[in-house]
Amino acid sequence: PQTLSMFFPRAPLTQTNSSPITLQDPVFIADLHLSVAVPTLRSAFAAFMRAFDSHPALINRQELVILGDFFDAWLGDDTRGDYEDVLSSLTHFVKTPNARGETRRLFLMHGNRDFLVGTGFTKAVGATLLADPVVADIQGIKTLISHGDMWCTADARYQTVRARLRRPFIQFALLSLPLFIRRRVAENARAKSQSVKAQVVERTILDVTPEAVLKDALRYQTGLVIHGHTHRPGTHPLSETPVQFTPGEPESCGTRWVLGDWVYQQEALIKGTALVFNAGSPTALEVKDLIATH
Ligand code: MN
Repeated sequence: PQTLSMFFPRAPLTQTNSSPITLQDPVFIADLHLSVAVPTLRSAFAAFMRAFDSHPALINRQELVILGDFFDAWLGDDTRGDYEDVLSSLTHFVKTPNARGETRRLFLMHGNRDFLVGTGFTKAVGATLLADPVVADIQGIKTLISHGDMWCTADARYQTVRARLRRPFIQFALLSLPLFIRRRVAENARAKSQSVKAQVVERTILDVTPEAVLKDALRYQTGLVIHGHTHRPGTHPLSETPVQFTPGEPESCGTRWVLGDWVYQQEALIKGTALVFNAGSPTALEVKDLIATH
């Protein structure tokens, strides 16, 4: 990555941190799909961020970890002016200590929609850009965190496109296009997907292949995996039979936590989860409950 970043300093993939991270009291969210087109959803996000200063379930939390597809699309860090409200919520979070007076930290991982988010954005808000996947020590629990799309291995065509878009040269080339061209390309892609949708059916997101997740959990020696992308919130065992994930730990079937996407419809947030850890045990919170009185 060092060599690549010398050649393609603007390729976001080369700007990510792949070293293990340590999290004291994290909150995980993913797949908000924030966009310029849906200001109501951005308002719900702002309310969620305000809850870190007032809601009992959030005021002591220390880290916010966004596991990809935070934005529905990202055309480059030079478009961040379109998201002033989002930037100010994130900046406020990083600059304001939690209720225990501890410094709060912000982590952002790329999704398949916002893979062009770079340090121009993360530095502006004080976030760390994470590689996908990355190992996190969460209150002593070794965890593998990912957006999750790399485990959707049954969709070969998707994986081909993904591999292409993850090439530093391609990312560099895309971001080198003038902004008006990038906007036009995105506009055309949107129009095209709309008409295809009208004609046929919307291409659904395939679920992850459990064997692919298990393979990486064993490789990274983590009995806990957290990811998003599939829009299918829930928990699943990693293995059908007990195995030893982490050396020195007892055998277990492991756990895969899937974060839900956020959906705003009929003037309310109808879907959206945040994953927290209460005394070492992962707990899903409904975002709509967190923002209800805020
Ligand atoms: Mn995704």
